Amino acid sequence: MVSSIIDENIINQLRELINRVNSIAITCHKSPDGDALGASLALCHVLRRMGKDVSVVTPDMVPKSLEFVPGVRDIAVFTKHEMRVRRILNDAQLIFCLDFNSLKRIDLVGEIIEPLNTPRVLIDHHLDPDNIFDIAISFPEASSTCELVFRVLMQMGELRLMDRMAASCLYVGLMTDTGGFAYSCDSPEFYEILASVMRRRIDRLGLYNKAMNTFSADSVRLQGYALSEKMQLFPDQGAALIVLDKDELERFNYSRGDTETLVNKPLAIPEIYWSVFMREDADKIKISCRSQGDFSVSDICSRYFNGGGHFNAAGGDFVGTLDDAVAVFYQVLADLFPKTDHPEEQSTQEQ
Ligand code: 5GP
Ligand code: MN
Repeated sequence: MVSSIIDENIINQLRELINRVNSIAITCHKSPDGDALGASLALCHVLRRMGKDVSVVTPDMVPKSLEFVPGVRDIAVFTKHEMRVRRILNDAQLIFCLDFNSLKRIDLVGEIIEPLNTPRVLIDHHLDPDNIFDIAISFPEASSTCELVFRVLMQMGELRLMDRMAASCLYVGLMTDTGGFAYSCDSPEFYEILASVMRRRIDRLGLYNKAMNTFSADSVRLQGYALSEKMQLFPDQGAALIVLDKDELERFNYSRGDTETLVNKPLAIPEIYWSVFMREDADKIKISCRSQGDFSVSDICSRYFNGGGHFNAAGGDFVGTLDDAVAVFYQVLADLFPKTDHPEEQSTQEQ
C-alpha cells in the first residue's frame, strides 16, 4: 500500500483551493527535464479532466528529446510566447510550482509571479525550498516530483482520473529522475506507485527508449569525444571533471539535451564518487554535478557555483569564464581535500 505521507490538512486545503477556482497555471524549472515536464503535464491532464481550464508554462524551450511527452505541444514557453505566458499567469486563479524550490529557478517567469496575489502551490523534492508558497508539499526524500504528484492525486482521491496519458507523463519523471530506476528509488512504495502507473497500459519500453536511450549521432559522438579526450580524473579526491567549451560544442552541432547524462559516466569508475561537468553556454557556464554515497554535491553547487539541487545531483549557473569555473573546481579540491605537507616527514616525526 502507498501510505499517506502528506498532511491531511494540506490535502484538504488544496482540494478546497482547486474547487474554488477555474483557471490554473502550472510551471516548472527552466531547462525542463523529464520530471519537471512529466509532473506538470500529468497534473495538467488530471486537472483538465476535473473540468478546469489549465495551462502549462515553462521559462524556456523543451529539449527536442522530450517532445514526445504527451501534451508538450500545448505548453506556453516564455522565451517564445512571452505575451501568452504573461496573460496565462495574470489570469490564473491558482499557480502550481513544480520541481523547483525558488523563483530564481524560473528566471523571468519568477519575476511575473512574485508580485501576484494568486495562491501558489509548491510540489517539489529539492532541498531547502523558499518560504514563499501558500501550500508547500516539499519532500526532498521523494524520488521525483512525479512521485509527489501521484501521492497528491492519490490522497485527494482523484487517481481514477489518471488516464494512460497522465500515467505516461508520470512514468517519464519516475524513470528519468532515478536514472532509469538506479538511484533514489529504494522505497518499496516507489514500486507500488510504478505498478499503479503500469496498470494504465503505458507503452513502457517506448517511453524508456525515447526518454533514456535516444541521442542524435552528433550527441553520441560528442559524448565519446568528451569521455575519451576531455575527462580528467582525480582519484585521490574521488573526482572527475569534464569541460566542454563553445568551439567543441559547435564542432558537434550541440543542441540542448545532447550532454544530458554525460556527467554520470565517470561514476562508473570504482574510485570516482563525484563528477563535475562544465559546459560553456552563451551567457554562463552551466555546471552539473553528480555523486554517489555520502558526498553532497548540492553543498558544492550552492557554495561555489551559484546553484543547488539534490544531495547526489546538483547544478549551478556560474557567471565568468570557463577558466574561472575550472579554477573554482581546483579551489573545491583544495578546500575539501587539504593536502598534508610532506606526509613522509610527518610520519617519520611521529615515530
Ligand atoms: P542537471 O545537472 O541535470 O542540470 O541538474 C541536476 C539537478 O541540479 C537538478 O535536478 C536541479 O535540481 C539542480 N540544478 C541544476 N542547475 C541548477 C541551478 O542553476 N540552480 C539550482 N539551484 N539548482 C540547479
Ligand atoms: Mn525532479
